[in-house]
Amino acid sequence: MTIEQTEKNWRPQTQLVRGGTKRTHFDETDEAIFMTSGFVYERAEDAEAAFKNEVERFIYSRYGNPTNEMFQDRMCLLEGAEACRATASGMAAVFAALACHVSAGDHVVGSRALFGSCQFVLTEILPRYGVETTIVDGADLDQWEKALSKPTKAMFFETPSNPGLEIIDVQAVCRLAHNAGAIVIVDNVFATPVLQHPLELGADIVVYSTTKHIDGHGRTMGGAILGTEEWVNEKLNPFYRHTGPSMSPFNAWVLLKALETLEMRVEKHCRNASEIASFLTEESKPTRVLYPGLKSHPQHELAKAQMSDFGTVVCLDLDGNKENAFRFMNALQLVDISNNLGDAKSLTTHPATTTHQRISEEERAQLGITDGFVRLSIGLEDVEDLKEDIAQALAKV
Ligand SMILES: *Cc1c(COP(=O)(O)O)cnc(C)c1O
Repeated sequence: MTIEQTEKNWRPQTQLVRGGTKRTHFDETDEAIFMTSGFVYERAEDAEAAFKNEVERFIYSRYGNPTNEMFQDRMCLLEGAEACRATASGMAAVFAALACHVSAGDHVVGSRALFGSCQFVLTEILPRYGVETTIVDGADLDQWEKALSKPTKAMFFETPSNPGLEIIDVQAVCRLAHNAGAIVIVDNVFATPVLQHPLELGADIVVYSTTKHIDGHGRTMGGAILGTEEWVNEKLNPFYRHTGPSMSPFNAWVLLKALETLEMRVEKHCRNASEIASFLTEESKPTRVLYPGLKSHPQHELAKAQMSDFGTVVCLDLDGNKENAFRFMNALQLVDISNNLGDAKSLTTHPATTTHQRISEEERAQLGITDGFVRLSIGLEDVEDLKEDIAQALAKV
C-alpha cells in the first residue's frame, strides 16, 4: 500500500520491470501469485481490528490481494496516479468508475464515439438507475460546454476512440468540466499508458481494459481504475468492495509480467502501424485510411500534441461496402479476424457487424463506421509479412 519514493524516482522502463514488487521471506525473483480468497488471524481481536480498519492488512481478496496490489502499485507508478484498483475486465472498470460516483438524479456527459459496451453503460444502464446522460460530439468543444449548462457530475470519453480514432482535446474538456464542478474519466485503452498520460493533462480518473495492450498477448481479461487516494478511498472502495468486480490474482500476476515489456511492445506496435498506414495510403483500394499519425487525419496536430506516438490501430474504408470489407478480411492469411486488439498477433474486425452492430445505422454513419470500414490492430509480426498479406488481400477486393 505504500509506494517507495525511490520507485517514484525511477524512469518508466525501470518502474515497468520492478515497480511495486514486494518479496516474501522466500526471496523469490519473480513476483509471487497469492491464490487465496482469504487471510487468517492469530486472534479474534485481530480480525475485529482489521474489519474496523484500525490496522492495514489483507482481509479478503474481493477487497485486496498481495499480487493484485503489486500490479496496482506498478500501474500507479506508470500512470503517475496515487491509487489504483484492478478489475475483472475493462468494462468492470468503466462501470465501477461511473457507478461509484453518481446517484439517481445526477447528470453525466459522454462522447458519441465510444466502444459499444461503454456506450451501452452510458445510454442504457445508467438511465435505468435515474442517471441522465447527454451524448456529445467529442471533437466539438462547444457541445461539451453546452451540455455542462445542466449541473454535471462526470464526463466520460475515449481518445483515440474505438474504432473511429477520433481524438479529443483532454486539456480543453478537463478545463470546461472543472469550471463546472464535474470530474473527467478518460478511457485510455487505445493510447495505452505509454503514449498518453490523461492525469497530467488534467483528467481525474483513468480507466483501462488491461485485456488489450497491457496483457498484449491475448491471454487474460482485466481492467484498472486509477485516481487520487481520496477518490479511491471515499468513492470507489465502498462500491468495489461490496459489488465484487475485483481481478483474479492469477491475472494480476500475468499482467505484472506483461508490464515488463509494455513500453517496447507499444513502440514496436506503433512503428508497424505507422508503416502499414503509409503503405495503405499508397494503395488504390481503400477509399479512406485512418491513422492519427497521417497528416490526413483531421486531428493529427492534436494527436501530436497530447500523445507521444500515434497508436497501434489503423482503419480503412473499402468504398463503404460490406462485400468489399468481408472479401478483404476473408482473404487475409496472416491477420486473424477477431474483435480483440493490442495483441502481439495482428487482428482485424468489421465494427458495423460486430462491436458496433447494436447501434443504429444512422448512429454508425455519424461515427464514420460505414459497412466498408475495417479496423486493423497491428501486431508485432515482421511488418513486411503484414504488408504482403494486406496487399494480396486488397488485390482480391
Ligand atoms: C475493450 C475495450 C473496453 C472493454 O474492455 P474489456 O476488457 O473487453 O471489458 C473498454 N474501452 C475500450 C476503448 C476498449 O477497447
